[in-house]
Amino acid sequence: MTSQNNFPIYWGPDYVLDSGVETRTKSGPLAKILMMGEVPGIELISPLPITREELLTIHSEHYIDRLVKEQKPELIRSIFASTGGVRDALDAMFVHGRAGSLSSGLHHAKRDNDEGYCFINGLALAALRAISKHGANRVGVLDTDAHCGGGTFQLVGDNEQVVLADVSCDSFDNWRPNSGRHFLTIVESADNYLDVVKRALKHLDGVDALIYNAGMDPFEDCTIGGMRGITREVLAERERLVAQWCKDTQTPSMFVLAGGYGGPNLDLDGVARLHLPTIREFARIRITPESKN
Ligand SMILES: [Zn+2]
Repeated sequence: MTSQNNFPIYWGPDYVLDSGVETRTKSGPLAKILMMGEVPGIELISPLPITREELLTIHSEHYIDRLVKEQKPELIRSIFASTGGVRDALDAMFVHGRAGSLSSGLHHAKRDNDEGYCFINGLALAALRAISKHGANRVGVLDTDAHCGGGTFQLVGDNEQVVLADVSCDSFDNWRPNSGRHFLTIVESADNYLDVVKRALKHLDGVDALIYNAGMDPFEDCTIGGMRGITREVLAERERLVAQWCKDTQTPSMFVLAGGYGGPNLDLDGVARLHLPTIREFARIRITPESKN
């Protein structure tokens, strides 16, 4: 058996080939911080790119072909690498209990189109792979990005084996829950943010795998998505609650980065550092995947 202490995090230089938005550039400084040993116990691994065939499990052939044809080769390599990282993190979490990928820009992507900086919906891809390849019965997708995950809802919302929990503070890309498996709350005040996170985690009770879209754009200094009163401390507590839930329920779990954007008070290094609490909290917990089977 592989060591339970391994905490694989996927990242490769191809992730940052496209320099357009923080969605792709911030993983560079974050990887550098991790390579310098900021969070002990992490293994940084370069993933294999996703394949066209794998992408067709969630996106239409027409969309993928158009994307490859029309976008810059650097952007394509970047999103293929970072989506490969999501797949590899998903596979790794069933071995090590926890894993992550420094990927962003996933939850708004729809079957036939990109949206809001998101090209490939790696969350939906990972959820379906957890079921088809790893035999998960119920997969949870927790999304704490400031914006709603309308792409994920479109792609896997009607899948009876997928449970969605979406905590947002901006109505962009909102969706309408139509099943007991669906939880969406658009928070209106920072005062009840953590209570909503707790309710979202309660909603996920009973899933046997968790895919976590750990967005940091609710942070008050983010120009896109930020909400006054959602401080670094609030977000650190959110990550503690999520990781503690994973530990208490012994649910194999993986995270990706999701949103987090700069502003007058936040440079790219600052955006990268915003994501550290997620990694620190996952580094703290131990999950034995076998115990769920
Ligand atoms: Zn967002």
